[in-house]
Amino acid sequence: MSAAAAAAPEPSFRHSVDIMFNRAVSLMDLSPGLEEKIRVCNATYTVRFGVRLRGRVHTFTGYRSVHSEHMEPVKGGIRFAQSVNQDEVEALAALMTFKCALVEAPFGGSKGGLCIDPRQWEEDELERITRRFAFELIKRDLIHPSQNVPAPDMGTGEREMAWIADQYRRMNTTDIDSPACVTGKPLDAGGILGRVEATGRGVQYALREFFRHPEDVAWANMTGGLSGKRVVVQGLGNVGYHAAKFLSEEDGAGVIAVAEHDGAIINDEGIDIEALRTHIAETGGVRGFAGGTYRADGHAALEMECDILIPAAMEGVINLSNADRVKARLIIEAANGPITAGADEILRKKGIVVIPDLYANAGGVTVSYFEWVKNLSHIRFGRMERRREEARHQLLLDELGGAGVNLSAEFQRKYLQGADELELVRSGLDDTMREAYQRMREVWRERQDVPDLRIAAYLCAIDKVAKSYRALGL
Ligand code: NAD
Repeated sequence: MSAAAAAAPEPSFRHSVDIMFNRAVSLMDLSPGLEEKIRVCNATYTVRFGVRLRGRVHTFTGYRSVHSEHMEPVKGGIRFAQSVNQDEVEALAALMTFKCALVEAPFGGSKGGLCIDPRQWEEDELERITRRFAFELIKRDLIHPSQNVPAPDMGTGEREMAWIADQYRRMNTTDIDSPACVTGKPLDAGGILGRVEATGRGVQYALREFFRHPEDVAWANMTGGLSGKRVVVQGLGNVGYHAAKFLSEEDGAGVIAVAEHDGAIINDEGIDIEALRTHIAETGGVRGFAGGTYRADGHAALEMECDILIPAAMEGVINLSNADRVKARLIIEAANGPITAGADEILRKKGIVVIPDLYANAGGVTVSYFEWVKNLSHIRFGRMERRREEARHQLLLDELGGAGVNLSAEFQRKYLQGADELELVRSGLDDTMREAYQRMREVWRERQDVPDLRIAAYLCAIDKVAKSYRALGL
């Protein structure tokens, strides 16, 4: 244990979020009343419900927290994990408020969770449990297109969102906007192309934007671009898999280690992410994967020498007990809260740059916002303008051809193609990630009293929330 660990107790996840919030507001000029209003979680609903399964009634505990309603609906994922508790859900709801404000998604912050190990239940059992949980939330407007819109999180995905959407529809048969009650749905149940990959894609876009600023790259003791950078990923679930896949397949980065719940795979030459994902799907873990060396102590991967560390599994994994052994130059928090407030200080003193969670994993809520808009407008993005755009491009190509300008067939093909929904979603996400980074970095670079990107992110977000509350007369 480090000296820091011996000196100060490890704050809880919620306490960590509070500490970071307090650091930021100490640099702002907010009235104490408004500061408190923004900090506190408005409400948390706890529900215990029974479902008859395997011959007896099982009781489950679930939560839905609403942190801030300065904008409605409020937005935030639903997590299925054994470790879910009120403090965790409230911390995650607070992060959602700040995340939405930072990326200008017009939502307040919320989060939900169900104490359950989804691996212990068959699909039909999980469906009954999810529908019952959804029923409890829907009847209190804690799932509602204009009040509270959940999305996937740890342990949930498209399948659960489809069940929730269907449950809402059954209980609100005349609500034409019912698909907008939840995002992250499968395409055929009102979803949007690009939502499944969105959070990992957002991590990729965030890193690309970071590497567009040589000053910031130098701050992290690196040079050049993403190509050739050595990456370590913790958690090859939805977020970690997509981030690792895109960075290795599209940006030339090498993923040299992947830590999962049952250990880590290490390969200096770079891991084949698709093959590892298939192995996990077939065997339930990384053990036995032929494309690298297995190490039972998965957490040790967090301490490996590398350029970029991507914790993409859970909160609190970089803490007072291991922060001083972390050797990455840059950490991008793909998970929510992977670095505790205590560890954050240690990393900063070591000169490790951290791209904070409220920015780094905002790709999910950004594309959820697009899905919600698509549901409310009842039309897929690009449907009206795509062919018109192609026709205008054709006009120009014909004119150039007539004037004897020679354009390659490949150029013509690409130029002619109008944007479809996936391209528009990626373009909107890329723009959101770039703009938000630039806002954060401006505060980080221009204010002497702002020590890092996290405080800069909180400052931008809290300022936006404060302006909303002021506009409401508070
Ligand atoms: P997921 O359930 O799809 O994946 C989590 C992965 O982490 C799983 O593969 C699991 O086996 C692995 N894991 C669990 N315990 C581990 C351990 N001790 N060490 C290493 N790996 C471990 O979840 P997800 O949706 O990818 O979410 C991951 C994180 O990203 C969470 O913090 C979540 O809040 C955050 N997040 C997710 C989204 C989203 O759109 N899904 C959006 C924003 C933030």
